[in-house]
Amino acid sequence: MRIAKIETCVLEANYDWTIVKVKTDSSMVGWGEAFVAPSLTGVIAQLNEILPGEDPRDVDRLCRLMRTALGSSGTASMGFHAISAVEIALWDIVGKSYGLPIYQFLGGKYRDRVRIYADCHAGEGLSSLSPVLLPRTPAWMAKRSRPPAAKPELNPKYHGGQKSEAAAVRPRAYARRARLMKQRGFTALKFDVDVPTRYSFDDYNRALTPREIDLMVSLVAAVKGVLGKEVDLAIDCHWNYGVNDALRLARACEPYDLLWLEDPVPPLNTDALRRVTVGTTTPIATGENHYQRHQFRELLEAGAVDILAPDFQKVGGLLEGRRIADLADIHFVAVAPHNISGPIGTMASVHLCAAIPNFLALEWHAAAVPFFDDLVLGRRGPMIQNGYIGVPDRPGLGIELNEAVAWKYRKPGEPFFDRPA
Ligand code: MG
Repeated sequence: MRIAKIETCVLEANYDWTIVKVKTDSSMVGWGEAFVAPSLTGVIAQLNEILPGEDPRDVDRLCRLMRTALGSSGTASMGFHAISAVEIALWDIVGKSYGLPIYQFLGGKYRDRVRIYADCHAGEGLSSLSPVLLPRTPAWMAKRSRPPAAKPELNPKYHGGQKSEAAAVRPRAYARRARLMKQRGFTALKFDVDVPTRYSFDDYNRALTPREIDLMVSLVAAVKGVLGKEVDLAIDCHWNYGVNDALRLARACEPYDLLWLEDPVPPLNTDALRRVTVGTTTPIATGENHYQRHQFRELLEAGAVDILAPDFQKVGGLLEGRRIADLADIHFVAVAPHNISGPIGTMASVHLCAAIPNFLALEWHAAAVPFFDDLVLGRRGPMIQNGYIGVPDRPGLGIELNEAVAWKYRKPGEPFFDRPA
C-alpha cells in the first residue's frame, strides 16, 4: 500500500478544525486533525511533495521525513501541527489495514472509557475565535437566535475575548454553568479566571491587584459551591501573570483543592514556572505551548510542573504523545491532555489516553458547538456520555468524518479535500 495524496478541509467551529485526509492507492483513507494555525493547510499541502509513494505504515520514519522537510524551511512549530495531523491519519490507516484499533499500536489499553473534562470558558459557552484569536461569527452561529457578540479589543489579559464583566464574570454565571455541566455528568470542569475586570491598573504588566485576586477566588468559590467534592475543578490563567502574582493567586486558591491551576506564567521560561510550582500546594499544569518530547523533558527534569497538558494535535503525533507520557510517568507526573479539536482529533486523543497509565482527564472544548456529533460516522449517539468517551474497538480511529455534514461548516477560502478553495 502506498500514500497517494494528502487533502484537507477546515471547519469553522469554535476554533478552526483542520482535518486531514490521507488517501492511499487502495480505497483506504486515514483521518487526522491538526491544532489551529494561520495558513496551516498550505503547509500540509506541501507534504504532497514528499509523502506520496511511501508506505503509510512506516509511521515513525515518515514523521522524521516530515520533520526534516519542514524544519529546514523554518515552519517551526506550525510544522508540528501539520505532522501531528498526518501522523494520526497514518495510524488510522495502520489500524484499518491490520484490523485493530489505534490504541493497540500504542501499547494496548489501560481503560475502556476515557474521562473527559469540559472547558467552560468564562461561564459562557458560545464563542468562535479566528486563528489569530479574534472573535468571529461563523455562518452557523449567525443563524442562531443569540445576537453576535460585540467585537472587543484583543485583551492580552483574556484571549477568550468576548465577555463583558457585567455579562459573564459574575460568580452567579459561573455557578450556573457549573450546575449545567455537572448535570450532564462531567466529573471535572475547567473555567477561565483571567477575565478582564475593572480592578486592574494595567493590561500588560502581568500584575494582579488584591481585588482581582479576590474576584478570581470568588469565582472559584462559587463554582466549588456547586460542584462539591464530587466534581473536580481546574482553572486556566493563559500565561498572563508574573511569578509573584501567580503565586499569590495559587496560594489564595489552596483551600479549594483545585485539580490544577493552568498556565500561570508565560510559557518557555521553565525556571519561572518552577518557582510557582514549588511555592504552592495548588497543582500547576502546563503543556499546550510545548512541542516534542525535548521541551517536555526540560519541564519534567526541572520539577516545574505537577500535571502535564500536551496537545496531541500539535506535539508531533500520537507516538510522540506516548513518549511524552512515558517521560511524565518516570517522574510520577499525571497527564491531562489539552484538546480544542473536533471529533476526529478528540477520538485520536482518546486512543492515546486509553493507552497511557498516568492519564488524568482529557479536555473537551466544544460543548457550545451544536454539530460536533453530526460530523461523526460510525458511532451511535453522542460521543461523550456521562462525562466519558467509550474507547472504540473498531479498526483505526473507529470513526470517519461525515463529509456531507462537514461541507455545511467549511471555512470559506479553504480547499474542501479534492475541491479547491
Ligand atoms: Mg489552557
